[in-house]
Amino acid sequence: MAKTIYIAGLGLIGASMALGIKRDHPDYEILGYNRSQVSRDIALKEGMIDRATDDFASFAPLADIIILSLPIKQTIAFIKELADLDLKEGVIISDAGSTKSAIVDVAEQYLAGKPVRFVGAHPMAGSHKTGAASADVNLFENAYYIFTPSSLTSPDTLEEMRNLLSGLHARFIEIDAKEHDRVTSQISHFPHILASSLMEQTAVYAQEHEMTRRFAAGGFRDMTRIAESEPGMWTSILLSNRETILERIADFKERLDEVGQAISKGDEEQIWNFFNQAREQRQAMEIHKRGGVDSSYDLYVDVPDEEDVILRILELLRGTSLVNIHINEENREDIHGILQISFKTAQDLERAEYLITENTDYTVVIK
Ligand code: NAD
Repeated sequence: MAKTIYIAGLGLIGASMALGIKRDHPDYEILGYNRSQVSRDIALKEGMIDRATDDFASFAPLADIIILSLPIKQTIAFIKELADLDLKEGVIISDAGSTKSAIVDVAEQYLAGKPVRFVGAHPMAGSHKTGAASADVNLFENAYYIFTPSSLTSPDTLEEMRNLLSGLHARFIEIDAKEHDRVTSQISHFPHILASSLMEQTAVYAQEHEMTRRFAAGGFRDMTRIAESEPGMWTSILLSNRETILERIADFKERLDEVGQAISKGDEEQIWNFFNQAREQRQAMEIHKRGGVDSSYDLYVDVPDEEDVILRILELLRGTSLVNIHINEENREDIHGILQISFKTAQDLERAEYLITENTDYTVVIK
């Protein structure tokens, strides 16, 4: 049976979800709320949604499923507003916020006893881009789409949500909201603080040491890439997960002090162990393999700096589907091979490794 879906917030996440929902459910009616007219117009013109409003409350009673894809503070404000509206019986309310406890707590408090269902959610995909203009039907492909069930999540809620979102091609998973916030504080929130701190420290240092900027290469780029993230979103993430993030900061300060002490004592063994342990831990994390942080299979080829060398390799891989190709040209010291090729499946990766090693003398590394 065709359903009516209401997406509030037609930004990167909301508009990309609309596209994904349409892919598998072209018969569903998608209603959209957006504060500014620009994203409303784009979403209508591109056929992402069927009808648009700038009055949040007006469409809510029409929906079978409501997805709030707004900044965390606004998501909380709208949950409170929904509690006072006359919604369809059994409506599912969900969200997309990057932290979960604050949102789930408010939902549990304000929606309890109402004839509605609620499930917190966090689609773990995104970019620094914002607005409906950046919408991408493939944004969530192979990404974790996390649900944080609570007492307002009935057993059929998740099944209906998974069915609604099947066109996103995401990997659905369930976890407790508090545990979600702990885990993401370590692997997402705290790394953003580190990246921005490192960037700021470097910028100040560069004022007195002008070659700093010029020498910054691959390692520095990898460490600071996420310092370009959208400041508003990260401010609200830190403010809605304060305690856990403060714990991570305190823990990290101790770790830095330990390394500092080892350096000041000149304790070679401790310093070596420090690096070696981290190296082994990172390798064990299988970060480059599917299921890790990157959802692609990467292969590195050490190629000489010669004309047509990359074309030659691509020619060998004709017929194999590549996800990405990257030429690491700045500084070879800290990278494995200059040519990085990413594949979608382990089979493609194996085939590529075989073809390149059989037909060339180049070193191939899979990490
Ligand atoms: P976005 O900036 O692209 O879109 C945000 C939307 O919220 C826009 O439609 C904007 O008009 C609306 N909005 C902002 N303030 C508002 C207000 N005060 N009142 C009404 N509407 C308002 O952001 P996005 O990336 O789509 O993020 C949406 C949600 O998804 C956020 O909660 C974010 O934490 C979460 N999220 C983002 C990412 C990411 O990387 N971008 C990843 C996962 C989850």
